Amino acid sequence: MANMSLNKVPMPEQDPGERITNFKEVALGYTEEMAKEEATRCLNCKNRPCVSGCPVNVRIPDFIAQVAAGNFEEAYQIISTTNCLPAVCGRVCTQESQCESRCVRGVKGESVGIGRLERFVADYHMAHAETVQSNVAKNGHRVAVIGSGPSGLTCAGDLARLGYEVTVFEAFHKAGGVLVYGIPEFRLPKSIVQKEVENLESLGVEVRTNFVIGKTLTVDEIFAEGYEAIFIGSGAGLPSFMGIEGESLIGVYSANEYLTRVNLMKAYSNKYDTPIRNSQAVAVVGGGNVAMDAARTAKRLGAKKVYIVYRRSEDEMPARAEEVHHAKEEGIEFMCLNNPVRILGTEGSEVRAIEVVSMTLGEPDASGRRKPVAIPDSNHEIEVDTVVMAIGTSPNPLIRNTTDGLDATSRGCLVADEKMATSRPGVFAGGDIVTGAATVILAMGAGKTAATSIDAYIKEKNQ
Ligand code: FAD
Ligand code: SF4
Ligand code: SF4
Repeated sequence: MANMSLNKVPMPEQDPGERITNFKEVALGYTEEMAKEEATRCLNCKNRPCVSGCPVNVRIPDFIAQVAAGNFEEAYQIISTTNCLPAVCGRVCTQESQCESRCVRGVKGESVGIGRLERFVADYHMAHAETVQSNVAKNGHRVAVIGSGPSGLTCAGDLARLGYEVTVFEAFHKAGGVLVYGIPEFRLPKSIVQKEVENLESLGVEVRTNFVIGKTLTVDEIFAEGYEAIFIGSGAGLPSFMGIEGESLIGVYSANEYLTRVNLMKAYSNKYDTPIRNSQAVAVVGGGNVAMDAARTAKRLGAKKVYIVYRRSEDEMPARAEEVHHAKEEGIEFMCLNNPVRILGTEGSEVRAIEVVSMTLGEPDASGRRKPVAIPDSNHEIEVDTVVMAIGTSPNPLIRNTTDGLDATSRGCLVADEKMATSRPGVFAGGDIVTGAATVILAMGAGKTAATSIDAYIKEKNQ
């Protein structure tokens, strides 16, 4: 008999007052009892609408049935046939717009907590299972993967399982892409990403860090070394700025730089000498997940006042509802319908304030969202000593500029077909480098498709 509660079993969380003093994970995860209780809310629907909402088609009702029966390792085996990063997805997937948005329980009440259950199962597996060395026989064919974000890791994992010798080339000193340098520890502990990377290494994947393709080696040189195909999953890590006065003042960061200093270079810890501003008042410009992460990070670094400055209303914010909720609980102040016009500095060229203009919403624009329109003579200043720009990113042009035959869009994204094949034979691409800044699960879906296409390409070439 299904549990007909309208609400998900609540997720235990660190108290907001406590958590703004540390970088530990906010959501603490279900216990076994909580997981079983939530799993009994699933109706095991015959037509499985939730599965079609998942870009990697996790067999959701099947794994949830195993959780309900207390067979947690079996549940893990089901998830891991289609998803190689379940502990990550269970934490950061935009479930509310993917699998959970299709759940029939969401019609009246809250959907089944698919992401929470996936996280529970993955954590259970990590806590109980030994790392097993791969016994897949190598097929003698080599593939190179550029970038170790979710698209690259997924592509590498799938190819390794098919017997390919895979080398991942990563520019940073740590593998994981945005999962390690962007998304903060309090949302996604880095030890989890590290374990997922170790799992891949146990499959025989070689990860070469501090390796910038386009500088250390070019795409042509990779082919010359004997790799038969290349997957480019180098993301969209080039930050955008508004182009307003004052952006070169001391105390203005891109969100990428700010978060990288804290996440990857541990600026929050006294044990590391990474410099970061001792801010008292911070304005974060933007309304997406990146803006929420930067604002919540600034709070944890000790800023007394942290503002989200966003030019549309809260209804249009692209950030996940859960992140907005957490940010508000932590005391972040939302200054919606405000658009920065310039950043003001002290005589020593440090930030002292941000000048914004109030906005109102007009007719819908090309994106379908109502267009923000400035209200005349409504300029006002917000006193801050730090400004973090979180208004978007685009792909770094390095690989495109050092490789012949790669078509790109006017926004600098690589062009790839539905099989993730680029305009250059043998070169495949996927994730943010193709779509522009998107989501972890879409990047993983692209990595998966590319692995299948690369396998077919190499088989055909060697016939
Ligand atoms: P990336 O994760 O960007 O990885 C690309 C990798 O390639 C990087 O490690 C980079 O160093 C490496 N690289 C780049 N150029 C080279 C080169 N020339 N040579 C070698 N290596 C190179 N998505 C969600 O679904 N949920 C969230 O909650 C969420 N929060 C986010 C928070 C932040 C702060 C950010 C920045 C993004 C967030 N996203 C979120 C988006 C998500 O992380 C990305 O869409 C996803 O990581 C894209 O994966 P990818 O594999 O395409 O690239
Ligand atoms: Fe949902 Fe993401 Fe898991 Fe798919 S991978 S079932 S979208 S949480
Ligand atoms: Fe279970 Fe919801 Fe999927 Fe139905 S739609 S099988 S209730 S998770």
